[in-house]
Amino acid sequence: MDCVFCKIARGEIPARVVYEDDKVISFHDINPKAPVHVLLIPKMHVENLKEEIPADVSYALIRGIRETVKRLGVSEYRIISNNGRGAGQEVFHLHFHIVAGIEIPPATV
Ligand code: AMP
Ligand code: ZN
Repeated sequence: MDCVFCKIARGEIPARVVYEDDKVISFHDINPKAPVHVLLIPKMHVENLKEEIPADVSYALIRGIRETVKRLGVSEYRIISNNGRGAGQEVFHLHFHIVAGIEIPPATV
C-alpha cells in the first residue's frame, strides 16, 4: 500500500523507532511540536478510529503507549489522535501522538 506509515511499519523508509512488536510500532515525529513527540501506529493499515480494529490490535495500541513512554523515560504525557480531515488528520493511517516535555494546558473543547 502506498502509505507513508505502512512503509515505516515495513521498514521501507527510515524512522527513529522507539518501540516495536508484531502489531504496533512507535517512532519520533519528523516535525516535532514538543520536546517529546512520538507517533504510535498499528502495523496494519487502518485509516483512523472510524474503522473497525481487531481487539488484539486495540489492546496492542494501549500496551504500545505504555511501552513507548517507558522507553522514553516519560511519566506524564498526552495522547492525541486526529480522526478525519476536519479534525486535522493529514496522514490517513491511524496514529496516536504521544506528547510530553512541555507545559501542556488543560484540554479544551
Ligand atoms: P496528523 O496531522 O495527526 O495526521 O499527523 C501526522 C503527523 O505525521 C505529523 O505530525 C507529521 O509531522 C508526521 N509525519 C509525517 N510523515 C512522517 C514521517 N515520514 N516520519 C515521521 N513522522 C511523520
Ligand atoms: Zn498505512
